Amino acid sequence: EAAAKAAAVDADNGAPTIFDKIINKEIPSSIVYEDEKVLAFRDVNPQAPVHILVIPKLRDGLTQLGKAEPKHVDILGQLLYAAKIVAEKEGILDGFRIVINNGPKACQSVYHLHLHVLGGRQMKWPPG
Ligand code: ADP
Repeated sequence: EAAAKAAAVDADNGAPTIFDKIINKEIPSSIVYEDEKVLAFRDVNPQAPVHILVIPKLRDGLTQLGKAEPKHVDILGQLLYAAKIVAEKEGILDGFRIVINNGPKACQSVYHLHLHVLGGRQMKWPPG
């Protein structure tokens, strides 16, 4: 756990992430939704029948939500709205969850802001 935490801390250093390769289509992904600013694709390790990641195509310093600044307000709104479009497309508007893991204590592993859209099963509360 300590090693995982250290790795997570080190990871927020502004280095490119695997999501850059997904955005650039250098590695394959299952894209669910795309527009000028936002990309949504299926998580490779799904935690629910529907598990999609919604990300900004331009990271612009948003390695994590905790780095958000006033200039990011528009893209933050666009990401949340894209999550709704994704939930609608996937037929899970009757129950879905948006998760943002922020930082090592929340087990963030990829330092390019992303919303997890989870659904397709009964979700439990509280989350772990
Ligand atoms: P965690 O790894 O603890 O879920 P994050 O919130 O940073 O932390 O989530 C990163 C997500 O990215 C994970 O759910 C992981 O399965 C997903 N992921 C990593 N690489 C890929 C990939 N190449 N394609 C799709 N999803 C990926």
